[in-house]
Amino acid sequence: MWKPRLELILAFAFAGALTVGACSPALAPPSVDTPGPASAATTASGSGRVPTTPVPGSPASSRAPTPTSSPSPVHPAKVFLDPGHGGVDTGTIGYTDDGTMVEEKTIALAIALKTAELLERDGISVELSRTNDSLPGSTPADYVPDGTTLTPDGVLDDLQRRIDRANASGASVLLSIHLNAYDDPSIGGTETFYDSSRPFAAQNERFASLIQNDLIASLRAKGYDTPDRGIADDQDLITDRFGTLGEDYHHLVMLGPGVPGHLNPSKMPGALSESLFLSDPAEATAANQSSMQDLIAGSYTRAIEQFLGNPGQRHTTSH
Ligand SMILES: [Zn+2]
Repeated sequence: MWKPRLELILAFAFAGALTVGACSPALAPPSVDTPGPASAATTASGSGRVPTTPVPGSPASSRAPTPTSSPSPVHPAKVFLDPGHGGVDTGTIGYTDDGTMVEEKTIALAIALKTAELLERDGISVELSRTNDSLPGSTPADYVPDGTTLTPDGVLDDLQRRIDRANASGASVLLSIHLNAYDDPSIGGTETFYDSSRPFAAQNERFASLIQNDLIASLRAKGYDTPDRGIADDQDLITDRFGTLGEDYHHLVMLGPGVPGHLNPSKMPGALSESLFLSDPAEATAANQSSMQDLIAGSYTRAIEQFLGNPGQRHTTSH
């Protein structure tokens, strides 16, 4: 019975009976979007929103070395990318317009690998929580007896391992990469979460804003009218019991504060991006395209480089 909800609790502090889909935080829409799901649905279901033709002029073509008198950039910062889910934890599952099944874990990994490649081309070192379809470091104790899914504590253990790897990497910033879902398939949009309770809360919010703003600008530049759901404080999430974390833990585990004896927190500013809703067939169709994954990766790269103080100008023409 856990299986349908596992994807939810992996990213969020949920474990109970939620009516929303995977990675859907049951969050009130941004204040600028007061009509909420109704208006989002109206926008999301608009026809012609999702171009399916690959756009010429890939980001790669715009990344010729910038003439400069200095050698290739040596950036002291390191970035930690966390493609959500993996292995038996598929994350949310959606279907494209033609009925093709898409799994969150697969798309999140593709976006993360593309982002890592772009960052590394710019001389920024990257570590990832996973580089293939697995849950690194998991043990049989993390799974239910038949091995088909993680236990609630197994999910928490997986997140802790991701956090531990992020902390061990010495990264300056953490980006957790997910895709959203909701019961109503007409709901879609782009949303970025941050945690406002940490000592580096202002940096968290700035980073989330950079990601959200670039994603929306990039989507608009390509003709998508994906609803802008804005940035959101993870403390506004409606949470439930999460493994051994209490039900009062109103944070995303990857971003939130520690709980003595239960959770050692991430030590760097971070954000969690939900770029599109896989429960919306139009957005699932887009997310399944390499060109859209390139677009999202380009946005993440620019936002990260801006956050780190690198103009990232070699990516600005990839919109
Ligand atoms: Zn997720």
